[in-house]
Amino acid sequence: MKTRTYTCQGCGEVCEQSGRGAPRRFCPEKKCQQKADAARSKKYNDRLRSEGKETPAQRWRKNNPERARENDRHKRATNPELYREINRRKASSVTGRANRKAWKEANPEKAKEISRQGAARYRARSTQNEVFYVTRKDLDRLARTPCVGCGSTENLELDHIIPVARGGRHSIGNLQSLCRSCNASKNARLNIEWRSRAQQQAARPPRQVRAA
Ligand SMILES: [Zn+2]
Ligand SMILES: [Zn+2]
Repeated sequence: MKTRTYTCQGCGEVCEQSGRGAPRRFCPEKKCQQKADAARSKKYNDRLRSEGKETPAQRWRKNNPERARENDRHKRATNPELYREINRRKASSVTGRANRKAWKEANPEKAKEISRQGAARYRARSTQNEVFYVTRKDLDRLARTPCVGCGSTENLELDHIIPVARGGRHSIGNLQSLCRSCNASKNARLNIEWRSRAQQQAARPPRQVRAA
C-alpha cells in the first residue's frame, strides 16, 4: 500500500498517511484538528460580534432557554472550583466592580434586599459554633423584664422558651425572663405545657395535710 507523509498544520509534526484519500492536514493523535476548528469558529464569532450580529451559540441559547439553563447548571455542578474562580475574577475585575456599582444604582431596592440576605447568611453562619447573637444589651434588657410567669422582679433568671435540651437555640428570640421558682417549675417544658400544667394543679383540690 502506498504511504505518503504530510506535515500537521497544528503542531508541525510529520505524519504518515496510507491509501489514496485526500491528503490529511492534521496529525491523528493530538487535538490539533479540534484546536484549529475552535480557532476558526472563534474568528468567525469575533467577526459576528464586531458587526453586532448574533453568534450561532447565542441564537441557540435564545431558542433553547431551558436547555441552556440546564447545561449551565450541569457545568456549574461538575466544576464548582472553576466557577468559583471565574466568579471571583469577574467580581474583582475593574469592569466587574463598575458593572456592580452601576447595577446597584439602577436597582437600589434589589441591592438592599441582597445585602440583607448576605447579612442574614452571615448571622446564620456565626451561630454554628455556639457563638450566638445575644448581646450584652439584650441580656440587660431581659434582666429588667419582670418574670413572664408571675410578674416578680426578684431572683430573675434567663429561660429558654424552647428548652435547649429540646432543640431550642440560645438566641435572643428564644429567651425570656423567669423568676427562680417559675423557672424551676417550668423546667424543660415549653411555655404552653408549663401553663396547662399550672392550670391543672390550680384546679386540683388542695392536698390533705395529714394530721400529726
Ligand atoms: Zn498535530
Ligand atoms: Zn415567676
